[in-house]
Amino acid sequence: SPSNELRYHVDGELVPASRATVRVDDRGFRYGDAAFETLRAYGGTIFEWDAHAARLEATCDALELTHGLSRADLLSRIDETLSANDLSDAYVRLSITRGVQPGKLTPDPDVDPTVVVYVGSLPRGGLEGNPVWDGPAALETVDTRRIPNDAVPASAKTHNYLNGILARQELESGDEALLCDGEGYAAEGATSNVFFVEDGALYTPATDGPVLPGITRRVVLECAADAGIPVEEGRYRPERLRDADRVFLTNTTWELRPVASVDGVAIERDDRVDDDPLETLSRMYDERVEDRCY
Ligand code: PMP
Repeated sequence: SPSNELRYHVDGELVPASRATVRVDDRGFRYGDAAFETLRAYGGTIFEWDAHAARLEATCDALELTHGLSRADLLSRIDETLSANDLSDAYVRLSITRGVQPGKLTPDPDVDPTVVVYVGSLPRGGLEGNPVWDGPAALETVDTRRIPNDAVPASAKTHNYLNGILARQELESGDEALLCDGEGYAAEGATSNVFFVEDGALYTPATDGPVLPGITRRVVLECAADAGIPVEEGRYRPERLRDADRVFLTNTTWELRPVASVDGVAIERDDRVDDDPLETLSRMYDERVEDRCY
């Protein structure tokens, strides 16, 4: 393999990306029976590791996936993968599948998990830097509904991404899908949480609905509290977003990504308002990355 090929961590070993494989009878492949996290390293440090580790544990609890690996073990596999690839600013994906088992749906309680870490270079963005996204998002409400929590809990971050894939495939002109819950209230993007600003206050769908409790979402709410920006978590129709002063999306790789339009309606901020909460929150997010990783 070419010497510049990335190396991934598969079951305790670093292997070239092109040879990083799992078996066809692995439950992660067969059923999507796996927990994962997408993380970001800045200057070699995983941002919000404890929060990601806690969410991974919550996912494994929800799946009753007992893998027997400690947080420290998982973090050292991530660190090893970063070092082996000489990466300090990176995208990191950590997956734990229920492993290879006989071909029946009911899982065996004895689990030999498959643990995969893969990484990619991702330079730090920030306000003046190069954002990861191409530009502000065009958000489009789709008909595909977010799977209800009593079917597959949205709080569990599993390999089961068909809901989001179908939503993305439905897009006509937008580049992120807005999925609503069964009653038509905005839930989240296919891979992002959604926020809007109205008269200086911040609104976001509550996580008792079918919404992944995003780590970025949590940091943004923390920043809003520190900045004295009023916050409401609730249930909102997509129309509320179209009429908002500001709309933005959050996830680990995008950080805070502005939304330029919702369902083709341009989001126009009120220039009579001096403070732009999105600018304030983006700056504060950047400061937290700086403080916690460097
Ligand atoms: N919702 C969904 C469905 C996602 O896939 C993601 C990306 N992990 C998010 C929200 C944002 O979560 P986070 O900020 O933890 O990346």
